Amino acid sequence: MTAAMSETVAFDPDALRAKYREERDKRIRADGNDQYVDVSGDFSHYTDDPYVEPGFTRDAIERQVEVLIIGGGFGGMLAAARLRESGIDDLMIVEKGGGFGGTWYWNRYPGASCDIESLVYFPLLEETGFVPKQRYTNATETLEYCQVIAEQYKLHDIALMQTQILSTDWSEEEGAWIARTNRGDTIKARFVIHSNGPLNRPKLPGIRGIDRFAGHTFHTSRWDYDYTGGDAFGGLDKLADKRVAVIGTGATAVQCVPHLAASAKQLYVFQRTPSSIDVRNNTEIDPAWLAQQPAGWHHQRRTNFEAILSGMPVKEDLVRDGWTEAFRDIFGGLRHFRPSGWRLFTWTLGWALSNARKERGLKQYLTDKAMVAMGLQEKMEMADFAKMEKVRARAESVVQDTETAESLKPYYRQFCKRPCFHDEYLQAFNRPNVRLIDTDGQGVEAFTETGLVANGEAFDVDCVVFATGFEVGTDYSRRAGYSITGIDGLTISEKWADGMATFHGLHTRGFPNAFFFGPQQSGFTATYTFALDENAMQTAYILGEMKKRGATRVDASEKAEKAWINTIKRVARQTEEFQKSCTPGYYNNEGHVEFESQNTFYGGGPIEFFNLMAKWRHAGDLRGLEIR
Ligand code: NDP
Repeated sequence: MTAAMSETVAFDPDALRAKYREERDKRIRADGNDQYVDVSGDFSHYTDDPYVEPGFTRDAIERQVEVLIIGGGFGGMLAAARLRESGIDDLMIVEKGGGFGGTWYWNRYPGASCDIESLVYFPLLEETGFVPKQRYTNATETLEYCQVIAEQYKLHDIALMQTQILSTDWSEEEGAWIARTNRGDTIKARFVIHSNGPLNRPKLPGIRGIDRFAGHTFHTSRWDYDYTGGDAFGGLDKLADKRVAVIGTGATAVQCVPHLAASAKQLYVFQRTPSSIDVRNNTEIDPAWLAQQPAGWHHQRRTNFEAILSGMPVKEDLVRDGWTEAFRDIFGGLRHFRPSGWRLFTWTLGWALSNARKERGLKQYLTDKAMVAMGLQEKMEMADFAKMEKVRARAESVVQDTETAESLKPYYRQFCKRPCFHDEYLQAFNRPNVRLIDTDGQGVEAFTETGLVANGEAFDVDCVVFATGFEVGTDYSRRAGYSITGIDGLTISEKWADGMATFHGLHTRGFPNAFFFGPQQSGFTATYTFALDENAMQTAYILGEMKKRGATRVDASEKAEKAWINTIKRVARQTEEFQKSCTPGYYNNEGHVEFESQNTFYGGGPIEFFNLMAKWRHAGDLRGLEIR
């Protein structure tokens, strides 16, 4: 095939395939995740909390509770809310930050906002009656909403803030977990919920001489407003005489660059790989319209959104935005190629990692070969090419300088990296004080005492902002920031040394009464709060059932855990080729895709996972769990 047409876009698939491969190959590095610097030791100040007064102290406490929840983000808040709804009130939340909000507590950089529609992203909207102001909310409103939830569910009463868990150890004798904190506290808890956030530990690039730079630096998740001035809405007035460098061009940089561009004397944006930037088109939410929605609208809207992102047939697209359009483009064109009786399930990690195809009645997976033979994968690839051609055309039409526009064009399948939606990012490069430093996939070469070196050129700057993201593929305990020791002294790091092992992503054998909230081996949604709510409801159900039965100990059975891992692996294998073809990033373990990878999501997609959990709850026999 030499040329293809999709609506108004013409392209050469073979040329694009070759270009994608070339761009990927030049970025693959042998060191993978090890290219990043751990934020400990000399770098530990990058995780200090800039939003609280320094020097907070309090007396250590000793406490006994039914349920200890680690993390005061949406996961921890939802856990507490759903447990309270089930009549379980003896709770304690321990949070290292100075308030609720989790990722939104930390990420208050200028422009921080959520590009998933707020009516979908915000949990508990029908329970709280909260009306978000805009379709795409911002960090400030999100933090306000966290306060609304905290008030409604009386979470302040049960929270220990500015407190970091150091260890949780299972005591068989006590039938409880013993948690210790950095404030000298000892908390004995019958159950522990680990909701520590999948993107919580900032990472720094391992650039030569990173400790040599004498100017100012900080990570986007700990924005230094004392240095920049302004707030999460911009107005960074203290940068008016400053030369600023941003390293990274992921979803975070896309949101803060326009504000840095508007305020800094000079801004250098150091790019290794461009993001795909589609239209966002934010609008106000009409409270009158929202008030007319029937009961159950929230769950229906969230389910509809995730179903579209999973390639599942729906009657209507309720959200109709850049996300659903992207997936409709890719899946929609397939409708008449889909053999009747077959259903095409999700693909792409979350979106990309769930690429399962299942025959409805027989529950039998098709092989990739069979899919190729039917031409389905090729059709999806064509739709993806067409979509990305439009994204590249947008860069060309918005950015005036031809060379800069060319550098801002992403050459990979859309869901190899997180798609971005923004109406001021590309435009920022038209400002005379902004320069894109495209490193052609190689990254910044070195730091000097006065700045950075890239492409052999030195750039003197006053400040470097690290928009370099968060650890994903590293050890669970390292990311969580505390040790977890189960039966017979086995640590979670030892248990998961060769890959995660769970039942439903929530339980892991040998760690009784512990619940792990997170996307791995669970249903993964683009709307992460939706999956967290599912974790919370499942946990509340299990603890509610245990209470009814007078049970105090729950662990996954060996058989159930093994079977669940096999399910996860079987489907993950089918996405291997797609992931291998992707440009490296945290979605595909920096390009080091392991065939037997089990650290992935439930491949049938989130909606199927949620249905599976609902069915499991409905059966009422807690199958797969050993209850005492
Ligand atoms: P990412 O991991 O997505 O981006 C890190 C960036 O740093 C990449 O552009 C990476 O380049 C670059 N980088 C790393 N090392 C170097 C180097 N040595 N030289 C130059 N560049 C380098 O982190 P983000 O914080 O941007 O986003 C993390 C996640 O947070 C998102 O994927 C999303 O899930 C979430 N998020 C969600 C938002 C929302 O609207 N809901 C908004 C913001 C974030 P390369 O691509 O080449 O690796």
